Amino acid sequence: MIKYRLVCKKCNLFFDSWFASSKEYEKLKKRKFLNCHNCNSKQVEKSLMAPKLLTKSRTSKISKDLKLKRINKKIKEYQTFIKENFDYVGENFSYEARSIHYNHKKNNKKGIYGSATFEEIKELKDEGIDTEVIPWVEDKNN
Ligand SMILES: [Zn+2]
Repeated sequence: MIKYRLVCKKCNLFFDSWFASSKEYEKLKKRKFLNCHNCNSKQVEKSLMAPKLLTKSRTSKISKDLKLKRINKKIKEYQTFIKENFDYVGENFSYEARSIHYNHKKNNKKGIYGSATFEEIKELKDEGIDTEVIPWVEDKNN
């Protein structure tokens, strides 16, 4: 038995049909025994199977996703490093950064990290306090 996907040229209906062999299909077709379930037309033909291909846009989307995954992985590694070597100060970042900068906190060996607004970062920069803005991925485990 062999299954063919047939298409009706008249109404564009696609349907599957079983044949004993490809020869039987040819025979039935020649004798015009093949007809459409829908419009009864005899203009029924084997449809060409569409090959499964990835379109260019699809593959570029996949590689983009992969790239994003790799970047996220890098960021995660970076975050782990920061968490181990820096103290988290949360939204007090600009205050803590100033404290360190103006030597109010001499015993602070570790660097700090936290969140700040772009305005705060700009202010710190104006005061000569170097900060680095890094992308941050929220930890879903928390
Ligand atoms: Zn039809």
